Amino acid sequence: MAQTTFKRNAHASFFTLCLRALPARAQDYDSNRVTIAFFCLSGLALIGKLNPSDEERDAWIEWLWSLQAPDGGFRGSTGEPAGTPGNLPSTYTALASLALLRAPLDRLDRPGLHAFLAACQAPDGSFSPTPDTLGLFQNDVRMAYTASLAAKVAGGTPSFDVPAAIEFVRRCETWEGGYAGRPGIESHGGTNYCALAALSLLGALDKADVAGSSRWLMQRQIGGFQGRPGKLEDVCYSFWCGGALATLGLASLVNEEPNAQFLLDSQSPIGGFGKEPDVHPDPFHSYLAIAALSLTSAREKLELEEIDPVYNMPLWARDWLLAAAEAAA
Ligand SMILES: [Zn+2]
Repeated sequence: MAQTTFKRNAHASFFTLCLRALPARAQDYDSNRVTIAFFCLSGLALIGKLNPSDEERDAWIEWLWSLQAPDGGFRGSTGEPAGTPGNLPSTYTALASLALLRAPLDRLDRPGLHAFLAACQAPDGSFSPTPDTLGLFQNDVRMAYTASLAAKVAGGTPSFDVPAAIEFVRRCETWEGGYAGRPGIESHGGTNYCALAALSLLGALDKADVAGSSRWLMQRQIGGFQGRPGKLEDVCYSFWCGGALATLGLASLVNEEPNAQFLLDSQSPIGGFGKEPDVHPDPFHSYLAIAALSLTSAREKLELEEIDPVYNMPLWARDWLLAAAEAAA
């Protein structure tokens, strides 16, 4: 049955429960822990329910700083073996989480972060998740995106080869329109978002394949969006495709009503969102569904915070990171 109400309180409980489960299991090895924290914190922020006690906030902030590795990046969890290097996705989500908690960034090792980002870049301009995995097939536009965003937070001139990074993203353009994760493979909703947002962060959106991307992205809308031709709709693609269009300034091309309805219908009775209706909720799809809703004109009615589509966080969290970068420059 079509759902009409936004289950704000249930979503707040869901994210809070997921977040509180994280430190209790902190001894487990889980490289995605900080990314799950980011989904929960940003989800709570977007629905206006991020109100931790001072004690909780201080504990999360201490935990996030404990993830800063000697190489300048951030690790995914404190349960990883000693000497585990930082990785790009965790670096992005740790920095975003610190901003969401309005943590002073005075403990950020900015020279280390610059060195880490430069060390992650391969000669072809692509980025690997860690400096010691250069040239493996993990080099893709997701890493270009997270490196470009972390460079904004590091502040000043990026330490890596920006023209080479832009050229790598451009080589990911596909014959069908839009962007693949790496040159020579097929276009995908998530990689279109990462490619376009990376170009935006690198100041090269004028080099984007606007016509090809917007056509490919619009063709992904069923009611919600699919990730690739022939696939089922999934709430995460409402953000990846909707966010990619918003990055291009073309959010108005989304047919909003069926998109918002698909998202609302994917709410779980216990809070959170599944990837589609009647599927168990998880933090990833819950966050991206809310992020996608905050990109639509339903945002005000649902009382959601405004999101920056490129930074993938509330506007005020983006400003928190950029103000700290400017103050440190
Ligand atoms: Zn999904």
